[in-house]
Amino acid sequence: MVRPSDFAAARDRLVRELVAEGDIRSPRVQEAFIQVPREEFVRSGDRSAAYADVPLPIGEGQTISAPSMIAIMLEEARLAPGEKVLEIGTGSGYHAALLACLVGAENVTSIERIPALAVWGQENLARSGFGGVTVVQGDGSLGYPAGAPYDCILATAGSPRIPEPWPRQLAAQGRIVAPIGASRFGQDLVIARLRPAGSLEIRRGTPCAFVPLVGEQAWPSS
Ligand code: SAH
Repeated sequence: MVRPSDFAAARDRLVRELVAEGDIRSPRVQEAFIQVPREEFVRSGDRSAAYADVPLPIGEGQTISAPSMIAIMLEEARLAPGEKVLEIGTGSGYHAALLACLVGAENVTSIERIPALAVWGQENLARSGFGGVTVVQGDGSLGYPAGAPYDCILATAGSPRIPEPWPRQLAAQGRIVAPIGASRFGQDLVIARLRPAGSLEIRRGTPCAFVPLVGEQAWPSS
């Protein structure tokens, strides 16, 4: 049995590592990682591995990303308090909790395709004090027009291209941070920004390996 103080010490150690490696670069992202108990978002048998910098299985063939990858995405998103964010792929809810620390839970909507994960992610968020995050079940490759416009759409599953509905759901200066690649299991992290004229300015970042985004505007289900 791992004691709560052990988790806190492990969390501090991981955050120091992520800062030393340059994955966490800003005090706000660092503070978010300190605030969110990752052990509450992994399966009960994996709690002792919660602060290793590795992806972990969360059931239904899906994984919670490694903390270093999440840190890179959060730094690229450059979120300011009060900005509205749509996360595609709730999974465990961990990434959504970090987003809530950065912009306020009431400004985070997260959409998940698999019903059982949407329920589990929502439960994890509520138990950890992030019940203000809106979790919806549905196909995030279509975005979520009901909550638009968003300052940032951040995807935690990989798509062959930026789904066509996403840019239309962005606010002025809105960003998309998403793994995009021609393979179902390997992508580059893409950072896109909406130009005033409506087109996207696109930058390719680090190679990464996310589970596939399965949906009408992304990969087919089989
Ligand atoms: N952000 C999550 C990572 C989960 S892995 C976390 O912190 O744990 C990616 C998730 O994307 C999986 O749960 C998968 O079911 C979900 N997903 C895949 N395609 C999707 C789609 N079209 N819409 C919404 N979620 C999707």
